[in-house]
Amino acid sequence: MNKPLLLVVEDDATVRNLICTALKANDYRYLTAPNGETALSHAAASQPDIILLDLGLPDLDGVEVIRRIRSWSLMPIIVISARSEDADKIAALDAGADDYLTKPFSVAELLARLRATQRRLSALQGSAAEAVFRNGKLTIDFGAGCAYLDGQELKLTPTEYKLLCLLARDAGKVLTHTYLTGKIWGSSWESDMASLRVHMATLRKKLEKDPDTQYIQTHIGIGYRMLKVE
Ligand code: CA
Repeated sequence: MNKPLLLVVEDDATVRNLICTALKANDYRYLTAPNGETALSHAAASQPDIILLDLGLPDLDGVEVIRRIRSWSLMPIIVISARSEDADKIAALDAGADDYLTKPFSVAELLARLRATQRRLSALQGSAAEAVFRNGKLTIDFGAGCAYLDGQELKLTPTEYKLLCLLARDAGKVLTHTYLTGKIWGSSWESDMASLRVHMATLRKKLEKDPDTQYIQTHIGIGYRMLKVE
């Protein structure tokens, strides 16, 4: 199997070198870009497997880079941001980023995100058209419109089922509040956000009866992610 090719987009040479040293030590191939325009041309010319993208670039806003790449490609993009502002992460995720890392981050954290993204990618490639989703003790039969936990049918409301399917179809990816309410109610009013919290709480109560098994991860102020359960 080919080693994955990464595109590292970062204008800060110190951070860029740190990332590249970690990638090299862990058998990843990589290209680098110090700005948005170079990133766009490398992305198009080399079709990397994953892009690591700093949001604060000298020429283009990172979110704009995501939008332009998303206009022609679904290649995974992990955002690296020094900004602690949730609004930037949300804008990046809504523009199509797959995940995010907040600076400063550890090499272990970076490698864990890369592995998670690769797993998600191979799961997507392997099961794009599959009618049944499996994760730990959870099974969703999309055709029948039913979900099961440990073989027992989960008694879900239509909204809970919809939420579960959205999270499952993008398992491993952080889905923002705005994305989820948009998919479910077609709007993102404050009242929709409140409803989302309520439906998510009731869904999790049914899904996570076993306190040791967490299927859904909360990203406070940002959204939710379905975790891969062994
Ligand atoms: Ca920067």
